[in-house]
Amino acid sequence: SAERVAFIGLGHMGGPMAANLVKAGHVVTAFDLSEAALAKAAEAGAIAAPSALAAVEGASVVMSMLPASRHVEALYLGEGGLLARLPAGTLVIDCSTIAPASAQRVAEAAAARGVAMLDAPVSGGTAGAAAGTLTFIVGGEPSALDRARPLLAAMGRHVFHLGGAGAGQVAKLCNNMALGVIMAVTGEALALGASHGLDPRALSAMMAVSTGRSWATEVCNPWPGVKPEAPASRGYAGGFGNDLMLKDLGLAIEAALQVGAAVPLGELARNLYALNRLAGRGGLDFSSVQQLVAGPAGG
Ligand code: NAD
Repeated sequence: SAERVAFIGLGHMGGPMAANLVKAGHVVTAFDLSEAALAKAAEAGAIAAPSALAAVEGASVVMSMLPASRHVEALYLGEGGLLARLPAGTLVIDCSTIAPASAQRVAEAAAARGVAMLDAPVSGGTAGAAAGTLTFIVGGEPSALDRARPLLAAMGRHVFHLGGAGAGQVAKLCNNMALGVIMAVTGEALALGASHGLDPRALSAMMAVSTGRSWATEVCNPWPGVKPEAPASRGYAGGFGNDLMLKDLGLAIEAALQVGAAVPLGELARNLYALNRLAGRGGLDFSSVQQLVAGPAGG
């Protein structure tokens, strides 16, 4: 049965996700602080609301896709927060990538109000959001996830349930920490080969079927010109921003500190993406970390 969905945060990811819910036949009331983002969602068939509070009026499910922990906590918690207003029985699905501890705080406050809460960060980028092929990485109660499944199916292809509140965020950060390290070391390997006169294309083709293979060698190759479809081959435009990777590595380290886990390569990688930002590439695809080590050959 169609749910009445409130969708808060209609940016690069939330906008197309809300549009796919509309396409699947759900009534979607939407809110974003940006008027341009809100107008775009209205064009896609969502009902534009003047505030988050107005958007959730009469909604059975509330979804959010906001930049960071502080935005999510501000939306849901505190006196003016949504949780103080949502009736018991409402389902909240937050798809933002935020600190696991933050997701747990919101989930606890929700539970105290009889509101079910899932953390459901996504993988798949803006292309996956537009195509409705996202992967949802979920933490929360199984019963809440069962209820969410038809909605998630309208926006994505895969759903992984990792555990209770915050587990989705932890898993998402584990994935992105591995990705950040692998991208940086792939850039290093290609630069080492190029410095010895190897052709980065030949080196990548070999690595792509050898034990050094990864998404970074095969798909999003960081060396300009190796993969025509990769951001590296269009000046590192588009893709997954350096500063988003920097944020996620910071969250991974924060999560590690919380439990005393050792993440030496994650910490090193965070600093590499911080240096890449200082070099002026914060807004470019994160594979531009290649440029820290490329030398004249990779310019
Ligand atoms: P974005 O900046 O494009 O969108 C965020 C939107 O939230 C903006 O339109 C902003 O105006 C709105 N917003 C902020 N505070 C608000 C508030 N209080 N009320 C209403 N609207 C508010 O960001 P995005 O790329 O859509 O990313 C959203 C989340 O998804 C982030 O946590 C990001 O890490 C994660 N993510 C992004 C990608 C990607 O490729 N862009 C991929 C996976 C996950």
